[in-house]
Amino acid sequence: MRKYSFPILILAIFETVAVSLWLTKDNLFYLFNFSYIGLSISLGCFLFIRKYKHARRLVQLLVGLYMLVYLGLICGENMQIEGFWYYLFTGVFEAATIHYAVAKIFGPLIFGRGWCGYACWTAMVLDFLPYKTPKGERKKIGWIRYITFALSLVFVASLFLAKVGNIERIMFWAFIIGNVLYYAVGIILAFAFKDNRAFCKYICPITVFLKPMSYFSFVRVKCDKEKCISCGKCKRVCPMEVDVTDNSRNRKNGTECILCMECVNSCPKHAL
Ligand code: SF4
Ligand code: SF4
Ligand code: SF4
Repeated sequence: MRKYSFPILILAIFETVAVSLWLTKDNLFYLFNFSYIGLSISLGCFLFIRKYKHARRLVQLLVGLYMLVYLGLICGENMQIEGFWYYLFTGVFEAATIHYAVAKIFGPLIFGRGWCGYACWTAMVLDFLPYKTPKGERKKIGWIRYITFALSLVFVASLFLAKVGNIERIMFWAFIIGNVLYYAVGIILAFAFKDNRAFCKYICPITVFLKPMSYFSFVRVKCDKEKCISCGKCKRVCPMEVDVTDNSRNRKNGTECILCMECVNSCPKHAL
């Protein structure tokens, strides 16, 4: 039973959030929402421990499709960054603000960039592309993320400043158009740079929150130096080019680890 303590812990954390929000907001949706996500992630962790090869991809599809199709398209919630700004400006702690607080702002203090490895619906599609490990050199264009971040903020702020009517409807269409753009840019970049995760590394505005918070992440992949034979396999399979054998928090690309566990699976000495 001890080896299953991590999925149990994850489920307990999500259930705590689910019950707390259900009771404080008096809304049964939160119980369903966070229980579903917690169960999906714990199932993935359980299957990973059981050495099921596609455990992460399964979670990514369970959570990603739920958020994109059910929450986004059917319920009409903009869960993109524009939706976060929208709810923030209206002063309502609902939908996207709760989602951002849990998955992308405070959650990463515990589970780092787990969102990026197991739940993001953009990466859910990009991970099907052929370049699972980057083939070229890393580009120095990560600054683009600050521009997309600023543009999303300016876009929503302008709607409020111009007192545009029916912003909620605009947010719904912004969600659809934004996603189409993200997918298009993500796929083009993946082929151009021969790297499925190029969009995550250079463009995604959410990394402006994710990177600094995940620096302090409680859950991290660490290397047992006693066992490591410096074969370099772990770094060759890493989609995010993390220097995973360096245990310091300042390790190269350390805030980009998506906890995909490819390095852990590939280590011949079980050093990770
Ligand atoms: S970096 Fe952005 S696009 Fe990539 S997985 Fe994370 S949230 Fe999704
Ligand atoms: S794969 Fe394992 S043994 Fe090889 S360098 Fe990485 S941690 Fe060390
Ligand atoms: S391969 Fe290892 S270091 Fe690289 S992103 Fe996945 S878990 Fe993190």
